[in-house]
Amino acid sequence: MHRRITDKLVIATHNPGKLAEMQELLAPYGIAAVSAGELGLSEPDETGKDFRSNAAIKAIAAARATKLPSFADDSGIVVDALDGAPGIYSARWAGPNKDFAAAMAQIERLLQERGATTPDKRKAHFVSALCVAWPDDHLEQVEARVDGTLVWPPRGNAGFGYDPMFLPDGHSRTFGEMESIEKHGLPPLGLGLSHRARAFVKLAEICLEPR
Ligand code: IMP
Repeated sequence: MHRRITDKLVIATHNPGKLAEMQELLAPYGIAAVSAGELGLSEPDETGKDFRSNAAIKAIAAARATKLPSFADDSGIVVDALDGAPGIYSARWAGPNKDFAAAMAQIERLLQERGATTPDKRKAHFVSALCVAWPDDHLEQVEARVDGTLVWPPRGNAGFGYDPMFLPDGHSRTFGEMESIEKHGLPPLGLGLSHRARAFVKLAEICLEPR
């Protein structure tokens, strides 16, 4: 049986970009969201071997510490020509200073080394695994992706992380060139475009009720 989120939810992230997106996604459901950062929770080690297990590690740690339902996302970019890298290590590729310009340049360097210079060889997708954990260890988990092509040089200053390099299929602007409303493409304007929005739509179906 799926379990509904009723009023208060901890957002188990310390990433301000993700926090802002999650708060935006939750707003229509009237859920009072408080972040792990605000509660001073420490970040657990992400020792899982895939997005799904890392999302669960983060959500479970926050639920146990706060005794409240807790919501976590684990996400990243998977580049076909790099055998799936950076994948679950997407945040780590930016180093301690969270330098995503350097991380994008590193991806581009590796793509060039592998001769991935035409769009068909530069396919990538973002993945978002979402997990809601309750203090009694009940879990709800969903996962979604958005496919696209990597462009160089990066385009646009909106969004965060690898957005400026990612051109979603069927679009002419990168995520870095899109306002967040367009990046997410949420109902009623769309059916979910970004990986996180698509996963969120799935989660909303099973755990949330519009207010
Ligand atoms: P983690 O889920 O906290 O391990 O970090 C995932 C990393 O993937 C983020 O720090 C970003 O670099 C990247 N990432 C995930 N989602 C997005 C997105 O929507 N746009 C750009 N980069 C993203």
